[in-house]
Formats: sequence, C-alpha cells, structure tokens
Amino acid sequence: MHAAMSAMVLQQPRTPLVSEQRALPEPGPGQVRVRVSACAVCRTDLHVVDGELPDPKLPIIPGHEIVGVIDAAAPGTSVRVGARVGIPWLGYACGHCSYCRRGEENLCDQARFTGYQIDGGYAEYTLADARFCLELPAELDDLHAAPLLCAGLIGYRCLVKAGAARRLGLYGFGAAAHLITQVARHQQREVYAFVRPGDEPAAAFARSLGASWVGASDQPPPEPLDAAIIFAPVGELVPRALRAVRKGGRVVCGGIHMTPIPEFPYEWLWGERQIVSVANLTRADGREFLQLAAQLPLHVQVHRYALSHAQSALDDLRAGRYSGAAVLVP
Ligand SMILES: [Zn+2]
Ligand SMILES: [Zn+2]
Repeated sequence: MHAAMSAMVLQQPRTPLVSEQRALPEPGPGQVRVRVSACAVCRTDLHVVDGELPDPKLPIIPGHEIVGVIDAAAPGTSVRVGARVGIPWLGYACGHCSYCRRGEENLCDQARFTGYQIDGGYAEYTLADARFCLELPAELDDLHAAPLLCAGLIGYRCLVKAGAARRLGLYGFGAAAHLITQVARHQQREVYAFVRPGDEPAAAFARSLGASWVGASDQPPPEPLDAAIIFAPVGELVPRALRAVRKGGRVVCGGIHMTPIPEFPYEWLWGERQIVSVANLTRADGREFLQLAAQLPLHVQVHRYALSHAQSALDDLRAGRYSGAAVLVP
C-alpha cells in the first residue's frame, strides 16, 4: 500500500491547482477511504476554483463526481472493503433539521459538500462519510459512471422538477444536457437544445443525441415550450427561457452559481409561469437516477485526462473545448 498519495490542490481561488504529495488519509468515525479510479470535472469545480462560491475550505482538493473502491473503513461502518462506490456532491447532512426530516436533505442547514467543504476526488485517495456513498450499477465502468454523479443526477433532479413537460428546452449543452437529453427522449419528450450562438460542435452533438430542434440561445424556439432547464451559468438566459415557455410553463435553473438576472417586464412571468432553482441532491435522487442510467443504458461521452492535467481539464471546460464530460484518472 502507498504511504503517500498525489493530489491536485487549490491553495487560493483564482490560482492554478498545485500537485502535492500527501500522507494517506486515515478514516475517522463513520468514514471510509476510497482509492479513486475516476473523478469527473463539473462546472461547480470551476466556480470553486474561480472564487465564485463563498468560503470554500482552503486548501481544498476539488472534485465531487468520484468513483472508486473502498480500501479502508472505520469500525462499525456498514460497507464492505473492496466495494465500488460513487461519492457525490452531498457529503453530509445532519439528519435531524426540519429539511432533513421532510426528506429534503439537499437543503439541510448543516449540509457539507464534497470538493468544496470536504476534500474531494482530484487525488489518488479520498475519505467519505460511508452513509453518503452511492452504490454503482455494474453496467457502467468507472470512467463512464463518474459524470453521472453530478451532471447526471443533478440534471435528473432538474428534469423531475420540470414536471410532465413534453416540449422541453435545455439551455447550455454540456455534460448534464447530454445525459438528460437521452433520459428525456426515453420518456418520449421532445428536446429543444439551445447552444451558444455559433457553437456548431455543440449543435451537432445535441442533434446526434436526438434533440428535435437545435438553435442558438438568443433565438426563440419554433413552438412554445412546456418547460426549460438552464444549465449554463448565465443570468440573461432566465428571461429568454421565460419568453420561450407557454402560460403555466416552468423555467428550472440547474446551476449553483449564475451571473445576475437582468430586469424584465412582469408580463413575461405573468400567465402562471414559474422560475425555480434546483439545489444539490438527495441520496434518493442518486439511487433512482443510477438505476435508470443502468437500465437505459445511457451513452456517456467522456474526455479522459491524467490527474496531473486537472488544470487543463478545467481550462478546457471554461473554454468549451470538448463535448460531454471531462474525467480525471489517477
Ligand atoms: Zn439537516
Ligand atoms: Zn457538480
């Protein structure tokens, strides 16, 4: 067994990640140690690195779409050493606040998040609370399972929040949209994909996954939508999406961070249109979505990077240089 591990560490927001050798962490009460086999790169990691989310733990090891194998466990944990697990964004919830008691652990007042307040998966090993690890279906290999742990399952929570919408708009065609398009198509919905004006690779990618219509995000759809999900962190898209949905339609904001939403006339909201946000995930979302992903099965497009190239993966995400999801492999 290694006595030390490599990790990519953020010392301060808006500085490049630094490669460090660290002592192998020992599991504390209730924790497991996981040997990381893959960790996908999420836009939220960019928000942490860019200082757009308040008060991260510093220094922090980012990464919250982690697949690995349990290699050590604290006494009394109900997991098996050798089991393959997924570690998502929700790293801890208290279990007794009013939100947790209502089944809304995603809104827990004491919640703590992987790769933000808890060291995450841009490393060879990580620690996790055993109760918040998710079992992964055997159908998916490590590389392709990793993006499901946030892009997939928070995307799925957005899709559920969109309700029974038949005509569904997706703004921002990255890792989440490429997975959710497939789920939506499987559910007999029509997908209207909105991409950055001029982003032809994203448009072609959306078409290849079954979008019925693809257009620029500053264009109206050919018909009013029943609902729209915004995955891009761009506030201007909120009023645009609101204009694209019919009376009674819903706009779901799926990101953790968004630039300010510009002012718009009340008439655009009138007609019982709604704007809602989706925050985090519950373990129930995780179990439901991972089962569905195994059944479909989902086609997951991945771009593999060595762990030591984590900074390039973040830079490529920021610049929109790939379609699908980037995945780091130690
Ligand atoms: Zn709670
Ligand atoms: Zn994420």
